[in-house]
Amino acid sequence: MKVCIDENLCQGHARCVYFAPDVFEIDDEGYANVREGMENVPADQQDNVRRAAANCPERTIIISE
Ligand code: SF4
Repeated sequence: MKVCIDENLCQGHARCVYFAPDVFEIDDEGYANVREGMENVPADQQDNVRRAAANCPERTIIISE
């Protein structure tokens, strides 16, 4: 699984960080990033990333399996 964020759509709610804090972080400008090295999501984080994507109000988390 790979994950990225459409930074043009992110509104900074941090719900992604709530569901997958090991994968997402909020940057200095208040928007979400995928943590360095987590673009290829480890197996034990994949359910968390799916939950984060399902709960992102802007639908800006992009998953490719
Ligand atoms: S929940 Fe979605 S819109 Fe909100 S900070 Fe996370 S990625 Fe951005």
